[in-house]
Amino acid sequence: MLPPTVLAEFAALLGTERARVDADTLALYAQDETPGRCTPEAVLFPTSHAEVVGCVRLALEHKLPITPRGAGSGNVGGAQPTPGSVVLSFECMNRIVEFDPANRLIVVEPGVITQDIDRLARSAGLMYAPDPGSGAYSRIGGNLAMNAAGPRAVKYGVTRDHVLGLRAVDGSGRELRTGSRTSKYATGYDLTRLLIGSEGTLALITEATLRLVPAPERTVSLRVCYASDTAACTAVQRIMQQAVVPSALEFMDRRSIEAITEFGAAEGLPPGTEAVLMVEADGPAEDIPRQVAALENALRGDGLLELQTGFTPAEIQNLWTARKSLSHAVKKIAPLKLNEDVVVPVSRLAELVAAIDAMGTLHRLPIVSFGHAGNGNLHVNLMVHPDDEGEMARAEACLRELIETVLRLGGTLSGEHGIGNKKRKFILLEIEPDTLALMRDLKRVFDPQGILNPGKKLPD
Ligand SMILES: Cc1cc2nc3c(=O)[nH]c(=O)nc-3n(C[C@H](O)[C@H](O)[C@H](O)COP(=O)(O)OP(=O)(O)OC[C@H]3O[C@@H](n4cnc5c(N)ncnc54)[C@H](O)[C@@H]3O)c2cc1C
Repeated sequence: MLPPTVLAEFAALLGTERARVDADTLALYAQDETPGRCTPEAVLFPTSHAEVVGCVRLALEHKLPITPRGAGSGNVGGAQPTPGSVVLSFECMNRIVEFDPANRLIVVEPGVITQDIDRLARSAGLMYAPDPGSGAYSRIGGNLAMNAAGPRAVKYGVTRDHVLGLRAVDGSGRELRTGSRTSKYATGYDLTRLLIGSEGTLALITEATLRLVPAPERTVSLRVCYASDTAACTAVQRIMQQAVVPSALEFMDRRSIEAITEFGAAEGLPPGTEAVLMVEADGPAEDIPRQVAALENALRGDGLLELQTGFTPAEIQNLWTARKSLSHAVKKIAPLKLNEDVVVPVSRLAELVAAIDAMGTLHRLPIVSFGHAGNGNLHVNLMVHPDDEGEMARAEACLRELIETVLRLGGTLSGEHGIGNKKRKFILLEIEPDTLALMRDLKRVFDPQGILNPGKKLPD
């Protein structure tokens, strides 16, 4: 716990209610969605940019590491406190600063809940396109720090593609403004793109100017069942080779279908289903039939068992039932999910899925894979019992084999969940030494004392 004199300085800045060291608060902020805990020295709740600057300056003076935190929904330990650190939670910086539909932008503080931004945008016929599955509770600051994404990324891109500018505080307490309010920017270095996805290791984001896009008039869903993983992956390739880009292209593998079946939620899937694609199209109402025809054409091929299209909200909801039950179904297999978030070029997806199947057999582990197939982004879930040492050792070996396979196929370690403290050990397998050295130099420029989220993102 912080020495009383240091706590008094934070309390003088924030007020005693927002500089907390009580046991309940410390326990609550000792973990995020990732297994593992570490009790912080204090939890700070600034309410303004100026208070964040003050917190960084006090942390520097007292050599205290800072663990930034949004909603704590990250699953790579990014918001898990570093030993000896103070957690700086952005929950109380949750104001919409400005909503400017005429210029298709919105200015928000980092603690705003992601879905609330989209909801407000839609009141003016616009939308905030990034749609992480955690959007109902994750905070935009966490999304920016992780470069979060969701199913719509295949058509609309990831968080980074929807940010015009940022306000931030670096590890020296310097106050930064990056980008501009305009949709074109070619003035300084693009620090906006650098800070997005930097996982709180370069600067604390205190405000973001986000780009909004017109909301589609209509959305339709297709559920497509195949007799094998390969048949579904080949269909993904066909979809991504033609001109109509779907607004979602989600894949569930054979083990996912087995899990849903065991969970009792596979009703409606035709017999023999071993893989499912969930596809969405959106746009002007008059263009939907053309898009659906093109997508259906590409989805048809060897191994197709059934193709259903939902036009009304009830039909769409019905088609997504099996997919939505998946996270609950997976929890029944084993108590712990080691969740990888790998990406390969779309043309290599079938090879990756086949390799994962073989790894499951070799290492005697249930592996459930699903995800954003249109981006080649698979969530590969190794289901394990943490008390079973033998199983955990097999899982560790399997994870390394998975990463090596992904890199051999031309892919990358993470598509959206980031690196945090869980995946740092694999960075050297992907990033070349000179490039990594430059990244370390950048870290020193932004954070010379190394107080911002140490132990995350880059290997020691
Ligand atoms: C059920 C579930 C579904 C999910 N689905 C998706 C998905 O579809 N797509 C996806 O991308 N992710 C998903 N995630 C992961 C997670 O929700 C995202 O990474 C999200 O962006 C984290 O937001 P958060 O507010 O919870 O941030 P936290 O977990 O609190 O923090 C995440 C990282 O951001 C840093 N940080 C937070 N705020 C700031 C700030 N203001 N300035 C600098 N650094 C900061 C933290 O230090 C940490 O490193 C899912 C998680 C769960 C549990």
